[in-house]
Amino acid sequence: MTADRPGFEDTPLLPGSEYRVHDPGRPHPPTVTPGGVVTQPPPADATVLFDGTDLTGWEAADGGDPGWTVEDGELVVVPGTGDIRTADPLGDCQLHVEWATPADPGDAEYPGNSGVFLADRYELQILDCAATDIYADGWVGALYGQHPPLVDASRPSGAWQSFDIVWRRPRFDGDTLATPARVTALHNGVVIHESVEPFGPTTYRDFEPYEPHGPAPLRLQDHDFPVRFRNIWSRSL
Ligand code: MG
Repeated sequence: MTADRPGFEDTPLLPGSEYRVHDPGRPHPPTVTPGGVVTQPPPADATVLFDGTDLTGWEAADGGDPGWTVEDGELVVVPGTGDIRTADPLGDCQLHVEWATPADPGDAEYPGNSGVFLADRYELQILDCAATDIYADGWVGALYGQHPPLVDASRPSGAWQSFDIVWRRPRFDGDTLATPARVTALHNGVVIHESVEPFGPTTYRDFEPYEPHGPAPLRLQDHDFPVRFRNIWSRSL
């Protein structure tokens, strides 16, 4: 344990791991400078979730109209308005999301925080790691609080970045977990997760037990920063 690094030492041990949730002693991912942002127009069989026009197909995560804005073809977090989610549920899918944290990270402790919640529950972290230091399982690309990314493939503050995700939702036999969820992901074209299994829904300083669910919305996080999104699509698997 290294007490002068961010993290917690009173959190649960992760299953099969020597590390705790937000463990300050967990090594940070090594840096791999990516070649650029992967910007990929929707393939022919994709479902376009955001095409730069408007918020059709999105709602506030707690119901009602989404509070985010569309400016210059970009979907922008309006801090304080809450998370937004797709009105339609997504099952197993390939997912493409492009995003950018603010060009000026300011002096916030964890600048550019947002996130992509798979099935409304499992967060792939968005954070400006060019401008901050955080526990490894909170790093950009982490399955938050559980699995750090294999590498940090961040681009500079304000630059467009991409996630490409292969998502298999968990399966349940009645109330019992039959098969955990499974995530493969690339950050700016670099593999950050390969067939990783969440331990359950992600949360701060803990992880939650799996509870039965089927296909569920894709949710994007308002964590108090005007993070921008563009070109969001999925392909059903
Ligand atoms: Mg987040």
